[in-house]
Amino acid sequence: MQVKAYGTNSAAEPLSPFNFDRRDPLEHDVEIDILYCGVCHSDLHTARNEWQNTLYPCVPGHEIVGKVTRVGKSVSKFKVGQNVGVGCLVGSCRTCESCRAGLEQYCQVGFIGTYNGEDKLSGGHTFGGYSTAIVVHEDFVLRLPENLDLAATAPLLCAGITTYSPLRHWKVGKGQRVGIVGLGGLGHMGVKLAHAMGAHVVLFTTSANKAADAKKLGADEVVVSKNAAAMEKEAGKYDFILDTVSAQHDINIYLNLLKRDATLVQVGAPEQPLPLAVFSLIFARRNFAGSLIGGLPETQEMLDFCGKHSITSDIELIPIQKINEAYERMLKSDVKYRFVIDMASLKK
Ligand code: NAP
Ligand code: ZN
Ligand code: ZN
Repeated sequence: MQVKAYGTNSAAEPLSPFNFDRRDPLEHDVEIDILYCGVCHSDLHTARNEWQNTLYPCVPGHEIVGKVTRVGKSVSKFKVGQNVGVGCLVGSCRTCESCRAGLEQYCQVGFIGTYNGEDKLSGGHTFGGYSTAIVVHEDFVLRLPENLDLAATAPLLCAGITTYSPLRHWKVGKGQRVGIVGLGGLGHMGVKLAHAMGAHVVLFTTSANKAADAKKLGADEVVVSKNAAAMEKEAGKYDFILDTVSAQHDINIYLNLLKRDATLVQVGAPEQPLPLAVFSLIFARRNFAGSLIGGLPETQEMLDFCGKHSITSDIELIPIQKINEAYERMLKSDVKYRFVIDMASLKK
């Protein structure tokens, strides 16, 4: 099946129209007409080869919602006409210890990314959601809560799960003081989710003009991280901090805010290593950790949680023709708080 898409042939080129073929649905496959796709900062890192692992041509997009148009003959979980989601994963080995634990993102053989992954079925590499349709094994397709706006649900498939997973793993909840660093796509979901889990949420931002929004999104307090005196007042008070920043920045000013034994989890993925002042860890037995998206069971759990708490992303809907402009705005932290592509713009 021919699909229309937006992609790029090199790090230096903007995204532009690109057509390619998808496989017809196999026995366990679901074919999805893509309605909306969120724009993650990882799309930009990848399109521009900032992590030095991009396979070209590159079609990004891993926050996909759409309608099932065809199913393979053995598909049991989904029906034609149903709205569904696809996140960052479309495959994994299914047999290693991580896969058996439902942690497909840590597949020891290597997960298959929705884009920039090895396409073991059609050859070459996978193409993502900046396209009119996608074909995915039913085990990597997610059910969507019926009460949520579809376009605003798309960012849950990456930004939602990437923040939900560490908040759950480190058992964030009532009675805890929790910091979220950066109010972008991931950060604003982190604020909403940590608030819904009952934590006292403090947003750390470089953008003082985001303070009022942050409070509406669920932050109890806002600290402008460029203000050294305000940062000093927070020292040693935090049970948990989630850092979502996409660019080089000083993580040590956040490590200093943790209580003894508390953890700073890095989910933002800047291209260069971040220098670590080890004494900050040593003198309070603090932990510095990372976390990658989430597995299929937990992604479904997150979607159900968002349905129950009526949580979606705050989005700006764009036609795909505005994608390059959206990338430039994302680099200036000028997005409230996730761009979502209306795929109708590509079907005309
Ligand atoms: P985003 O929407 O661009 O948000 C990033 C935020 O970081 C900005 O809004 C800004 O917040 C802050 N920031 C940007 N530049 C900064 C700088 N130079 N110094 C300090 N703060 C800065 O990006 P996103 O889509 O949320 O993604 C964030 C990062 O997470 C990206 O690196 C992405 O690749 C990564 N990611 C990781 C995973 C995972 O599994 N670990 C999954 C998805 C994405 P303020 O204006 O509030 O300061
Ligand atoms: Zn993402
Ligand atoms: Zn595996």
